[in-house]
Amino acid sequence: MEDTGSGFELSDRDRQIYEWQLDVPGLGEQGQVKLRNTTALVSRIGGLGGPLAMSLAAAGIGKLILVHGGNLKPDDLNRQTLMQHDYLGKTRVDAAAATLSAFNPHVEVETVAENITEDNAAGLVARADIVFDAAPLFEERFLMNRECVNQRKPLIDCAMFNMEGQVIPIVPGETACLACLYPELPPHWKRRFPVVGAVSALIANIGAIEGIKLITGMSGVNLSRLIHFDTVAMKLQKVAIVRNPDCKVCGKL
Ligand SMILES: [Zn+2]
Repeated sequence: MEDTGSGFELSDRDRQIYEWQLDVPGLGEQGQVKLRNTTALVSRIGGLGGPLAMSLAAAGIGKLILVHGGNLKPDDLNRQTLMQHDYLGKTRVDAAAATLSAFNPHVEVETVAENITEDNAAGLVARADIVFDAAPLFEERFLMNRECVNQRKPLIDCAMFNMEGQVIPIVPGETACLACLYPELPPHWKRRFPVVGAVSALIANIGAIEGIKLITGMSGVNLSRLIHFDTVAMKLQKVAIVRNPDCKVCGKL
């Protein structure tokens, strides 16, 4: 990419790398430039966020901000496909950055070795153009939702449990937000949950696809929809979700 002062344009090298997707209807060179000019924040880069970040890197996103605290443990390795065995006991975001940079060295990767908290959420969202939330805890998802609404940033909320998962594309002021759907913290939600890596990667890629459509201006973004995938029945459903005018997060937009 050459910096033209008003953002990046495609170089001959970029055209070679992304040649096969430039032919995708609605994407093209314009969409590719938009991807290159986009900074995406991915909250948690585990079984969901890891494959999601990889697909954004493959698509040619300009910059990834990877947010995830803690060190790699053996029981992460059934699903966290950006990790490497050599990194056991070491920082997860460093393993993820190493994998992504080896795969696509033209994507800028920044790491934040902490989880989303009240203290860091606003500052992190401020540095991104779009947020992909793949955190297992509702507290983190609510924080991302609130900050994205406050800063009018699009949010792709991804979640999974057992053999099912869901994705909600959120455009503040236009669609329902996460708090419209969940006004209160759901009870009895635990950090540990049953998961097969193939299922989390599938849900991750549904989230990546929705984000890529949103960034590039392609048609078909599932706004005001909750996309639910049941991998036992292999059934995809789209459930309409409406804005709550009394939502304590987005009700005043
Ligand atoms: Zn709302």
